[in-house]
Amino acid sequence: MREVKDQHIVVIGAARSGIAAALLLHKKGADIFVSDYGTISEDAKKKLESAGIPFEENGHTDKAKQGDFAVVSPGVPTEAPIVQYYLNEGKEVFSEIEVAGWFTDQNIIAVTGSNGKTTVANWLDHVWKTAKRKHALAGNIGVAFSDEIDRNKGDFLLEVSSFQLDHIKDFKPAVSLILNITPDHLNRYQHSLEAYAAAKFRITENQTGDDRFIFNYDDPIIQKHVEQLKQKQSAPQLWAFSNKREVPEGAFVRDNQIIFKFNNKEESLMSVEEIGLRGKHNLSNGLATALAARAAEIKNEAIRESLKSFTGVEHRLELAREVDGVKYINDSKATNVNAVWFALDSFHVPVTLILGGRDKGNDYSELEAQIREKVHTIIAIGESKDRIEKQLGKVAPNFVRVETMGGAVRAAKKVAKRGEVVLLSPACASFDMFDSYEHRGKIFKEEVNKL
Ligand code: ADP
Repeated sequence: MREVKDQHIVVIGAARSGIAAALLLHKKGADIFVSDYGTISEDAKKKLESAGIPFEENGHTDKAKQGDFAVVSPGVPTEAPIVQYYLNEGKEVFSEIEVAGWFTDQNIIAVTGSNGKTTVANWLDHVWKTAKRKHALAGNIGVAFSDEIDRNKGDFLLEVSSFQLDHIKDFKPAVSLILNITPDHLNRYQHSLEAYAAAKFRITENQTGDDRFIFNYDDPIIQKHVEQLKQKQSAPQLWAFSNKREVPEGAFVRDNQIIFKFNNKEESLMSVEEIGLRGKHNLSNGLATALAARAAEIKNEAIRESLKSFTGVEHRLELAREVDGVKYINDSKATNVNAVWFALDSFHVPVTLILGGRDKGNDYSELEAQIREKVHTIIAIGESKDRIEKQLGKVAPNFVRVETMGGAVRAAKKVAKRGEVVLLSPACASFDMFDSYEHRGKIFKEEVNKL
């Protein structure tokens, strides 16, 4: 708990989480000013006006520099002059999850990683619902943590990005999870994987011996940081998960059985086939979810039931429709190469792959082996068409260039045969042609429904 009454606080960035932090701090008696470099949405302005919180948009004036400390939105880079101003003045800069955390003693279960955060956060939500435990799902997902502070009387299930972790100080989850660390968003971390990994590991920074840290035992970058964590005086308890090998403490797979192992005692939870979602990555996600539930003392029976019954999240390997025996799969959220690798890995039939969008410096060649094995046609869309053609043009038997999502779906219909899969898994951001990955997935589904 931190006293904020009568403190003058500037909130930089008026998107969802900035507005939520401003409203929460205002309610707790702080004197708030909101400043945005760009325009503020009408909806956000209304919220601020009705709370009587002053704000400015389209640039930061001197008023933005007068806070005792600042709260920055995840979209604002640390290099931004206004953030640098505070840091140079020796004033603190916090993220929204840090601020929200000041006002609750309830358990926080916080999940981060390069891929799978939303899937696991929603899976946890499903487990908590199945177990009838009071909770709120928040963070990077839909509702901000700050919005739930005075509403939720149970556990907080939070999806946390590395940007949110960049500016924490006291944020202390009872259970933290790191699912994997692969190159993504490196532009925000001086192109250093090390800096990006260190940002993710800040999720454990304030954890102590009563807390738990759940991590991917098969991820070499995570392993390296776990070794460092073990050296710390007050480290959390370490629970690992692996779908490849036995772990010292945690969850793993042996002979197709998911096994919990604690204090050298094994418990068989369920068989791998019973898991509701397909793909090795989702087996990992399921193991992580199961461990977090166990850490929160949810009974194995409820864990088993909810690992079986979870049907996944929209735009992540989502079955859009089956037409003439061909399954059309919407994986629009696959905005990096690693996610596409796992998507391809989860199919064992021939695939027509729709790839492309706004490139983030991708190395598509990482997909070569998977493509040779199961993709007969690559359909390239968006800005990255040329780059994809250069790297993968000769890897699959057919390479087709299209201009629209409708064109992509129709081209796929021509080549995909009964029993096969058409997979939209673009490996790229959507902003060259769409408002968001959700928009891209929606248009894909609309086009598939027209077939
Ligand atoms: P995030 O919230 O971290 O972006 P999502 O759950 O939205 O993660 O999934 C993003 C993409 O990554 C989807 O294409 C999904 O199928 C894929 N994915 C999900 N879990 C994993 C994982 N553990 N490893 C690799 N890819 C994953």
